[in-house]
Amino acid sequence: MAEKTIFKRIIDGEIPATVVYQDDHCLAFRDVAPQAPTHVLIIPKREIAALADLTDDDEVLAGHMLLVACKLAQDLGLSGGYRVVVNCGPDAGQSVDHLHFHLLGGRPMKWPPG
Ligand code: 5GP
Repeated sequence: MAEKTIFKRIIDGEIPATVVYQDDHCLAFRDVAPQAPTHVLIIPKREIAALADLTDDDEVLAGHMLLVACKLAQDLGLSGGYRVVVNCGPDAGQSVDHLHFHLLGGRPMKWPPG
């Protein structure tokens, strides 16, 4: 059997995380190595390896995760703006094979990203 990802272990309560939101479908917790004053990861509770693995059946879930990001940005006081990032695959730097949306805010950001 494939080894659990670190995020599956967080979902299963095997390792701690600072959870800021959860519902039946997703979990949001603070990134252990924050790249901005606010850096939260939003993940589906169901195991989906990457953005590229979403199917038409996941349309509602994907939209839900974006809305959670939007609501969390409000709740966490990111009134100056924020960025939602999904790294998909090795060229984008995806390091955990469980879909995650990065919600980053609390500082000005440059474009394009590195
Ligand atoms: P990626 O590089 O795949 O887009 O993002 C993975 C993110 O997961 C990184 O920002 C990294 O800091 C975060 N991360 C990795 N391991 C852990 C962990 O055990 N706990 C938390 N809270 N974040 C983690």
